[in-house]
Amino acid sequence: MTRKSRLTHDLIAAYKLPIEIIEAQKATITELMEYHSVEYIGAIYSTKELESEGIYDPVEKTPLEYLGLVDDCAKFTDIKEHILYIAGSSITAARAIQDHDVIINWQGGRHHAKKSKAAGFCYVNDVVLCIMQLQEDYQRILYIDIDIHHGDGVEEAFSCSKSVTTCSFHICEPGYFPGSGKNSLNEYTINVPLKPGIQGEKFLAVFTRVVEKVMATANPQVIVLQCGVDGLARDPLGGWNLTEVDYCNCVDYILRSNMPTIILGGGGYNPVNVAKCWTSVTAKCVGVDLPRDIPEIDDWPLFAPDYSINVSKSNQKDYNESVDSILCSISN
Ligand SMILES: [Zn+2]
Repeated sequence: MTRKSRLTHDLIAAYKLPIEIIEAQKATITELMEYHSVEYIGAIYSTKELESEGIYDPVEKTPLEYLGLVDDCAKFTDIKEHILYIAGSSITAARAIQDHDVIINWQGGRHHAKKSKAAGFCYVNDVVLCIMQLQEDYQRILYIDIDIHHGDGVEEAFSCSKSVTTCSFHICEPGYFPGSGKNSLNEYTINVPLKPGIQGEKFLAVFTRVVEKVMATANPQVIVLQCGVDGLARDPLGGWNLTEVDYCNCVDYILRSNMPTIILGGGGYNPVNVAKCWTSVTAKCVGVDLPRDIPEIDDWPLFAPDYSINVSKSNQKDYNESVDSILCSISN
């Protein structure tokens, strides 16, 4: 479990939130290959198959470079277990949602992984596998992505599908990862490119107006929300100026549609602030108002100096235009 997930789980336990724990079933390699290619999975489980298939030019690039398994996605000791658990947890959520209103999997949301390539800290696209599992029971699925980075891997998987609508809110600027998501591709593939510095009030206004419209068009039976929180103020890789209250407001808006909803994690690179935000969202889902003071947990000193559940705004400049200008540029 990553540090931010462990902190989140500790904090949720310390607040004694009234939640039901569903044990995640580990995925099988066969389940991974429902979406990922044999070359990619083969490279993780053994590089020999890849070489014998001759699908790469070893002079130009190493096989691992071809498959994105370098730099921020370098292979590591427990990668096989990691992938099976991440994928399995989101597939478990998809199988269980018929009996629940909301299921949360903060370990999921690896939205950058491609069919044949790792990218942006994502080795397996559990979101795609989750949605593919949902397709067994639902005809119309809405995927909403509020991670600050474009949900490119999920968009790519379903850009030709009318049964899955994807809608991603993200920064799209020259040099900003992953560089895609400037325009909506069609009425089922919506992109809302934003600039750095957006604050809660404006973000919520854009979010609610876009989602209201998308809901009306997509008429979904189930919603998957990728709730990466790298848009929190002062995130080291982010660039927005949002607070935990802003994320709770977005989630609250979705929950008010009374649609079964799977909430997945995603980015967020200040583990303490991620834990605060994801705990707050969890509390919102079960209708609990959290006391401001963090209860004592093993890592309590990390929450110094104020030991508060709040993530405050910074004085970062907002480079975005007005809500109406943003909405107008999306529809053009
Ligand atoms: Zn991100």
